[in-house]
Amino acid sequence: MFVPSLPTGQLTLRESSPCGTGTLRLVWEVTTPPTAGWSYRPGQFINLGFAGELWRSYSLTSLAAELPLLELLVRVGEDGFGPGTRHLLRMRVGETLPYRGAYGRFQLMGETDTRQICIATGTGIAPFRSLLRGVGGQRVMLLYGEKTLQHVSYSEEIAQWQAETVLCLSRDEKNHPILSTHHGRVTDYLEAHPELLRPSYHYYLCGSSVMLESAGALLRQAGVERRQIHTEQFY
Ligand SMILES: Cc1cc2nc3c(=O)[nH]c(=O)nc-3n(C[C@H](O)[C@H](O)[C@H](O)COP(=O)(O)OP(=O)(O)OC[C@H]3O[C@@H](n4cnc5c(N)ncnc54)[C@H](O)[C@@H]3O)c2cc1C
Repeated sequence: MFVPSLPTGQLTLRESSPCGTGTLRLVWEVTTPPTAGWSYRPGQFINLGFAGELWRSYSLTSLAAELPLLELLVRVGEDGFGPGTRHLLRMRVGETLPYRGAYGRFQLMGETDTRQICIATGTGIAPFRSLLRGVGGQRVMLLYGEKTLQHVSYSEEIAQWQAETVLCLSRDEKNHPILSTHHGRVTDYLEAHPELLRPSYHYYLCGSSVMLESAGALLRQAGVERRQIHTEQFY
């Protein structure tokens, strides 16, 4: 049976810089789009192709208006990840990678009166950078969990995103100079603020399966239905 191959484009690395401890901000130029007029929506991800048909997904942190440049946030530190991470760490400016997409339906509700609460841990902040720079006039709150203040990505610009933000630092007693800071996990913050647990609110969770399960369990205990809980699981 003939299986048509998916449209594949090419990205050229233009910039690679640290963005919080153990995390890189990678800026790429779309040198060959997969399709004519290729674009994407806030909250979507692309797949990068590494040697031997190995593909890995990465959320777009940029906005389509910024094309032909696009940006990704990649965790590269500490835990010694696998082949995709090692390949990205070795890459130099000017080198290229194939990509496919964009994929995914992780997006905020359109105009709504109800409160929307975004919960990210680690690089799970990535899709919220595109989602929360693109909204206006909505009641959005962002809970962003990291180990320490040093690990926080986009620390200097988050205050300008369209959300009331609380940093939740699990291993640090320091405070962010501008943002509200809680010392503990995102789930600790939710437990300490039951007014944030409402069946009528919409919740957007992005990060590890562990966080998605623990935060999801809290929300369901509070009577939030699954259809109000939107998730993007990285690993
Ligand atoms: C829809 C989607 C979007 C994603 N977006 C991003 C993104 O924006 N940024 C990003 O860094 N990763 C993202 N990931 C994860 C990414 O696709 C890779 O899994 C990751 O880069 C590791 O790839 P690897 O080949 O080095 O190791 P793998 O063999 O894929 O993973 C090895 C181990 O690394 C750990 N791990 C994987 N990703 C992370 C992470 N982000 N933070 C901490 N531990 C991790 C897990 O324990 C995993 O078992 C996303 C995954 C999905 C499914």
